Amino acid sequence: MRLVFLGYPGSGKGTVAGRIQKAYGVPAISTGVILREEIAEGTELGKQVKPQVEGGGLVPDELVARIVEGRLTEDRLRVSGFSLDGFPRTVPQAELLDRYLAGKSAPLHRAIYLEVDKLIILKRLTARRTCRSCGEIYNLITKAPLKPGMCDVCGGALYQREDDQEDALRKRMREYHAQTQPVLHYYQSRNVLSRVDGGGTPEEVFAEVERAVESDPIPRWKLTKFPR
Ligand code: AMP
Repeated sequence: MRLVFLGYPGSGKGTVAGRIQKAYGVPAISTGVILREEIAEGTELGKQVKPQVEGGGLVPDELVARIVEGRLTEDRLRVSGFSLDGFPRTVPQAELLDRYLAGKSAPLHRAIYLEVDKLIILKRLTARRTCRSCGEIYNLITKAPLKPGMCDVCGGALYQREDDQEDALRKRMREYHAQTQPVLHYYQSRNVLSRVDGGGTPEEVFAEVERAVESDPIPRWKLTKFPR
């Protein structure tokens, strides 16, 4: 299954993509995670994108498209499939992706839009903490770590992302409305958009995403669920 997840920052794209990866073996590719890793490692690319990423602006389309293409290996295109979280974020990115996938005869199957009320988003983002080591995502209210400040999975330190702080957050919301909202219409007009209520618990949202993926009227891909 070749999937794209769309939605506000904090709509749960990363969480759902991680669950899809665990349940079905469909690798999740997150441009935000990749960019933050580059910044943490102090690479040339990291230095170049740091101001935009930490300030809540967008990285140039061609640059981020190249990063994604680099992760779309033959295996992911033809065997395991993939899900993209945080890409595309602009219509030109969606067009670049479509063109790339068409060239590989591996078109996108579904774009899943996680619909969440803006007030819920603001509450989620201000309470969000992320593990510096493994990237596990917590919420201080609904999914607090067992020990404050420490990741339950790997013991790493939890931190609040620079861009989850107020000014950057406001900028990300503005970018979302101006640049990313039109991507929904782009996929809708191509008949690959599914809307899912992203306002529930992670379990409820995941169940809805599974329904959206499995009720696809055209059985274009056989999903095999791993035994739990
Ligand atoms: P995210 O983790 O998806 O919220 O992304 C964090 C930040 O990385 C964004 O605010 C942007 O600065 C940058 N970024 C991630 N994905 C993209 C993209 N597809 N296009 C442009 N910038 C991106």
